[in-house]
Amino acid sequence: MPKNTKFLTKLEELYPNYHIHFGKKFMFRPPKTIYLEPENTPNFEFFALHELAHAELGHFTFKTDVERIKMEVAAWDKTKELCQIFGINFDSSLADEELDSYRNWLHQKSLCKKCGLTRYQTPDGTYHCPHCDL
Ligand SMILES: [Zn+2]
Ligand SMILES: [Zn+2]
Repeated sequence: MPKNTKFLTKLEELYPNYHIHFGKKFMFRPPKTIYLEPENTPNFEFFALHELAHAELGHFTFKTDVERIKMEVAAWDKTKELCQIFGINFDSSLADEELDSYRNWLHQKSLCKKCGLTRYQTPDGTYHCPHCDL
């Protein structure tokens, strides 16, 4: 029997509204689908609950990186709560690491491909380079 069966059973019992599927990566797809990596993935339960946190918080849309970071921080707070419900140890240093790498990824994405400067976003989510877009 796969080792996370108990966890998944509880997940489906407590949150029957969601469709849980296995996929290539941990991902919440609005409105009600959660994709999970294979059960033998390190910290499987922790990351599964993180996606559940996004779902529970109704994280459907975002336009700017600032919004995304705010959502990510909120989702990690909620993950902590969910870990308590499921009796899983919340590894805050792992959460910090994930948040850092998320911030990093967004930062890389924001760099101008022509000149390397950090671009800024207007509220519609479009990036503008302070050097090239003048
Ligand atoms: Zn997240
Ligand atoms: Zn530029």
